[in-house]
Amino acid sequence: MIPAQFDYQAPKTLDEAIGLLAQHPDDAKILAGGHSLIPAMKLRLAQPAFLVDIGRIKDLDYIREEGGRISIGAMATHYQIESSDVLKQSCPLLPECASHIGDVQVRNKGTIGGSLAHADPAGDWPAAILALDAELVAQGKSGERVIKAEDFFVDLLTTALQQGEILREIRFNKPQSRYGQAYQKVRHPASGFAVVGVAANLRFAGNGSCESAAIGITGVGSKAYRARGVESALAGQQLDEQKVAAAASHASDGVDANSDLYASEQYRRHLAAIYTRRAISKAVSRSK
Ligand SMILES: Cc1cc2nc3c(=O)[nH]c(=O)nc-3n(C[C@H](O)[C@H](O)[C@H](O)COP(=O)(O)OP(=O)(O)OC[C@H]3O[C@@H](n4cnc5c(N)ncnc54)[C@H](O)[C@@H]3O)c2cc1C
Repeated sequence: MIPAQFDYQAPKTLDEAIGLLAQHPDDAKILAGGHSLIPAMKLRLAQPAFLVDIGRIKDLDYIREEGGRISIGAMATHYQIESSDVLKQSCPLLPECASHIGDVQVRNKGTIGGSLAHADPAGDWPAAILALDAELVAQGKSGERVIKAEDFFVDLLTTALQQGEILREIRFNKPQSRYGQAYQKVRHPASGFAVVGVAANLRFAGNGSCESAAIGITGVGSKAYRARGVESALAGQQLDEQKVAAAASHASDGVDANSDLYASEQYRRHLAAIYTRRAISKAVSRSK
């Protein structure tokens, strides 16, 4: 399939990119890794008249740890995150999540910013970003805006980004010991996307009880969400198998679950509970 005709520019600075988006308010699209946008254009599901390629902007693909905060540039690829020594050491949830995305080619080109901005209901990153309680930094003509992860995902393929804004950075507090993290996923056998994906980020008190839990779930509903019922059932508890299983049974509470040819609503809810239990158990066993 061949995309509809479009114009293309590759600015060298963020300001230049924001200027180009402002000049084309109705028909421009940002191009990052192209691994969601180009297929959509080839299928003519998207027909932007103007592409602003942000791939030539310097210093938008960093991974930094500074003063107890971790920040990741929006153009960091899935592979950069998967292979980052900083993240393996300080926040292993992200390299683990990255390793579940697509295949080597997808991970080499696709970016965390593109994936979050695309907000595919079966995308992996939203679950992890929610579990880390991250902030997303958007930049537009009127300056910078910080959006909490929980406010960022609005609906199917819809985020809180406004027309003309570029997602510039994802940042969050470095997990402090004792913590445990894990990402567990049921891959769709055809696409590799998440039928269900669960990110668990647990913090433990000195006596070994679960001080707080953040559970992000993707694939179940029209957008990724925090499983608050699971989190409150875990908080303050000395976790054992029974308590973890009981908490995980709340994985899809209050969520309008998707149903398709591969997984019915009931099966998705079942998978959500099972994989939430697995993610929590793994996070507990890895706690340090
Ligand atoms: C075969 C295949 C398998 C895949 N498997 C998986 C999988 O298992 N799990 C998974 O999560 N994903 C999967 N993906 C999707 C992949 O992760 C994409 O890379 C990702 O969804 C989009 O990132 P991108 O950098 O390619 O963005 P692009 O395709 O360039 O852009 C996607 C959208 O986001 C917008 N955008 C991009 N960057 C920004 C920004 N910084 N600010 C504002 N808007 C922006 C674009 O305008 C566009 O609308 C797969 C893709 C393919 C082709």
